[in-house]
Amino acid sequence: MKNGNPLLQKYSLPPFDKIMVQHIEPAIDYTLDKNRKELKDLIKNTKNYTWKNFFQKIENMEDRLQHVWSPVSHLHSVADNNELRTAYNNCLTKLSNYSTEIGQNINLFKAYDIFSKKSSFKNLSKSQKKIINNAIRDFHLSGIDLNNDSKKIYKKIQNKLSELQTKFEENLLDATHAWKKHITNKNELSGIPDSVIALASETAKKEGKEGWLFTLEAPFYIPVMKYADNSILRKEMYWAYTTRASELGPNAGEFDNTKIMYDILTHRTKKSKLLGFENYADYSLETKMAKSTDDVLNFLTNLVQQAKKHAVNEFEELKEFAYRVSNTKDLKAYDILYYSEKLKQKKFSISQEELRRYFPVKQVVNGLFSITKKLYNVEIKKRNAVQVWNKDVEFFDILDNKGVATGSFFLDLFSRQHKRGGAWMDECIVRKKINSKVQNPVAYLTCNFTPPIDDKPTLLTHDEVITLFHEFGHGLHHMMTKIDYCGVSGINGVPWDAVELPSQFMENFCWEKEALDLFARDFETGKTINKDLFKRMTDARSFQMSMQMMKQLEYAIFDFRLHLEYSQKKDFDIQVLLDDVRKYVTVVENPEFNRFQHSFSHIFAGGYAAGYYSYKWAEVLSADAFSKFEEKGIFNKTTGKEFLEKILEKGGSCEPMEMFVEFRGREPSIEPLLKHIGITN
Ligand code: ZN
Repeated sequence: MKNGNPLLQKYSLPPFDKIMVQHIEPAIDYTLDKNRKELKDLIKNTKNYTWKNFFQKIENMEDRLQHVWSPVSHLHSVADNNELRTAYNNCLTKLSNYSTEIGQNINLFKAYDIFSKKSSFKNLSKSQKKIINNAIRDFHLSGIDLNNDSKKIYKKIQNKLSELQTKFEENLLDATHAWKKHITNKNELSGIPDSVIALASETAKKEGKEGWLFTLEAPFYIPVMKYADNSILRKEMYWAYTTRASELGPNAGEFDNTKIMYDILTHRTKKSKLLGFENYADYSLETKMAKSTDDVLNFLTNLVQQAKKHAVNEFEELKEFAYRVSNTKDLKAYDILYYSEKLKQKKFSISQEELRRYFPVKQVVNGLFSITKKLYNVEIKKRNAVQVWNKDVEFFDILDNKGVATGSFFLDLFSRQHKRGGAWMDECIVRKKINSKVQNPVAYLTCNFTPPIDDKPTLLTHDEVITLFHEFGHGLHHMMTKIDYCGVSGINGVPWDAVELPSQFMENFCWEKEALDLFARDFETGKTINKDLFKRMTDARSFQMSMQMMKQLEYAIFDFRLHLEYSQKKDFDIQVLLDDVRKYVTVVENPEFNRFQHSFSHIFAGGYAAGYYSYKWAEVLSADAFSKFEEKGIFNKTTGKEFLEKILEKGGSCEPMEMFVEFRGREPSIEPLLKHIGITN
């Protein structure tokens, strides 16, 4: 079985050319068996636990599994098909079983527990201690203290949850792809940028159609909502987008997530109660930086209070503007982005489309690399002849000042069919070091930018540039780590509400002239962004920021209360809660048909359940961390080095608050965040 299976070969990079669907299940079966056997022997034969004779070996087993699973799970996200889905789902059950088994292995738990109480434990490094302490916490969270019957129930719940969450995501993907709008009359495209029209024409051609074909993917949806003069098209598309995977959406019923959402919440609640928590929000906070549910709610409520009146004013301004320019009295949800864009252009004579000229994708990527070099003294070089899953994917190495590669990444920038929407960073290989032999970290960086058409360079919007910087920030956290143990290396072991610090931190460079001048050049004239344009850009930065903040707060409060309150009521109604949250938070009314929750995959399919507040929580940290750069100069070598050494390199080896204080010299302040979004109360 092992022979000939590319997933089971020793490799430094996944052999994407050779991986076939039929390799997946045997590779996972083989690896899980091997791990189980080794673990059993290890527990049986180890008398005096040391890091080396026991815990390092456990780490190696986890790393071995990561090695096999990471390319599979990645392919499932970027090159989905039916056979792959089946294999992936079958493996999910196996992995969920395995992880529960480990989490509930009483002999293994005893090994950690006994070792943590020995005097030699004190001699371990900070990282090693953190790994052992995290493991003990996770044993409790996996039901180690339960009796055998309850352990079985726990396992069932875990399996069910993993199945339901995957189904939620699949429904969303299928529902997104099920809707298409075919247009043959060019007049209906008025206002839509040429680049988007070209993409729509290309998409139509691919399906053997005349004219233009629009889908619900981001490169279509956002520009249509912002620029299409045709309000019927906007309305149609808004409806299709906001009812995806609901009982109302296109192909209604076929991809409906309603029942799945309730099932997920029920199972999460059951799991939390089984483990002795009141609700899932309490369970979620066990592994977070925030200390209590009150902390989180107070934090969010405070932001609502700070931002609401500004958001109301912003909305009033928009309404007045729409009335003035087109007599529109009743601003509909599908009008908001459209008139906002017009108002923004009027106030600042600036538009995302106009800025695109300065951001050809290659230039932006190189600029990002120069900024990284200035900050952290590393070189980033493309490596050819690496196996990838699509011809557009590139591969890069990060070289230290001696020219030694210390990490690498795959860069997959463009949207295409069968690729999950959005942008993200994922781990391919995690850094570790055993007996002076280093396994370098490798990342997957994935975006969904408009693909190049007819060899013309792709021009990014400024928002897209920010997205790229954001994901690269996660990537740097993963790749610049100096931690030698997988368990707390890079993003591993970092509490979820602190993990967005390095990513949101990087976004700030997209707003600094000194940084932009390194790469933002007009693709035809080669000119940099002049002072006047830059001023308009930064003036426009806080445009409707409070409205946007209220939207994020609406999502965060909805998510948190959902997981806090679900267990309290018998006939809990998700829509009723959402309406209640909106009553208090929403500035821009949502139409009744809006089923945003049905596509809220962050909390129903991803890891943000009772954790969506993390974005704002970490933004306080990132804005405040960046304010030190604002004070000392954004490319100040010492500050760069401090950020690298005190935060980025340390991964999950220390508590985030400790690291932050070490870097900033004090606890985080909310002021820099409020300043960035233009709130000065
Ligand atoms: Zn992020």
